[in-house]
Amino acid sequence: MVKLSVKDLSVRGKRVFMRVDFNVPMEERDGQMVINDDTRIRETLPTLELLIERGAKIILAAHLGRPKGKREPSMSLRPVAIKLADMLGRPVAFADDCIGEKVEKTAGALKDGDVLILENVRYYNEEEANEPIFAEKLAKVAELYVNDAFGAAHRAHASTEGVARIVAKRGGQCAAGLLMERELKFLGDELENPSRPFVVILGGAKVSDKIKVIDRLLEKADTILIGGAMAYTFKLAHGVKVGKSLVEPDHKQTALDAEAKAKKLGVNFQLPTDTVVATPVDTGKLNKKGKPVYDLTNVRTVKGDIPDDAEGFSIGEETAKRYAEIIRGAKTILWNGPMGMFEDARFAGATNSVAQAVADATQKNGAKSIIGGGDSVKAIHMAKLGDKVTFMSTGGGASLEFLEGKELPGVAALRDK
Ligand code: AMP
Repeated sequence: MVKLSVKDLSVRGKRVFMRVDFNVPMEERDGQMVINDDTRIRETLPTLELLIERGAKIILAAHLGRPKGKREPSMSLRPVAIKLADMLGRPVAFADDCIGEKVEKTAGALKDGDVLILENVRYYNEEEANEPIFAEKLAKVAELYVNDAFGAAHRAHASTEGVARIVAKRGGQCAAGLLMERELKFLGDELENPSRPFVVILGGAKVSDKIKVIDRLLEKADTILIGGAMAYTFKLAHGVKVGKSLVEPDHKQTALDAEAKAKKLGVNFQLPTDTVVATPVDTGKLNKKGKPVYDLTNVRTVKGDIPDDAEGFSIGEETAKRYAEIIRGAKTILWNGPMGMFEDARFAGATNSVAQAVADATQKNGAKSIIGGGDSVKAIHMAKLGDKVTFMSTGGGASLEFLEGKELPGVAALRDK
């Protein structure tokens, strides 16, 4: 269902309550909180600039970290307000609370084109509980509602869902921001009727995390390529030994069912034929979380059984080559989950090859490539190919739930076009 867009609203002189994802990574330096990566702020600029140009009075709501209902100073949005002012090249007001009389007064004094950021909504437990009285308090300043926080849309919280429902009940319009609109277009509409061949690349840690995505995409894709640790559950289900690899023995049947469904639907379902493994050796040390630290020794590639002393960390080069060839012929690509533990350079080769093939298909074959959020986005950035793909989702959990075909509460609360 296509949602009302921020472009469709008449916003001049109206107070627009906009939920954004300003959950940026921060670090304390010399007693001050410093923003390490401002991507999430930058990504809201197109919607903000549109609203400013059209004379809206903009009230931004967001969460930062997990303060668990307390006023945790290190999780204040004040540094974000300063950063945003810098990026917009205009003043941004900051309210040191998200509800209450002072906020209402400040919001009431806004002029057309002004921007106000409210303090972290998660300073109140009522936010995550979507508590109706709290949502009413937040909604007091809202005439219209815009949601540009796709990454938080899978949660029915007060600022992502409750406020929208209240605004709609009063007859105010609730619309998707430009970023939200792009997410819904690429992860939704584009995959409904994809140009073919449609190749889906799935990796990451667990089959159980991705099985609903696999199940849904089996009905759309021409080819599914499996990588990452989830491949070991498929191996195990076929009676192949997996040594010390991360595996889910309880999900062997899940894996076999997915393969059977692929066969029935005529989907080309590919599994790795070689694996990069290492032998973990206990160092006797413990990490910060109190877990034993292992050295990964004797990195090598094996076919078939993984030796008892070894653990798999990536698909092998032979598999990566085969996958890359299939990817280069695709017209639509969806990639979710790395092909191995790419954070360690010794196991990043295959993930990088897949990233390169996705970029090549996009640049040379005119494919639409959609990177489904989380670690695959990190992998694309690590391979320095961020500008060579069509779309990278800003959502982690939200992308996964959306790809499963679930209706996200933050999206459901917006008006259909
Ligand atoms: P996910 O969040 O399910 O997409 O999983 C991503 C994580 O899985 C990344 O941190 C990878 O390092 C990890 N991962 C992928 N493949 C493997 C593997 N073969 N062994 C261990 N970890 C892996």
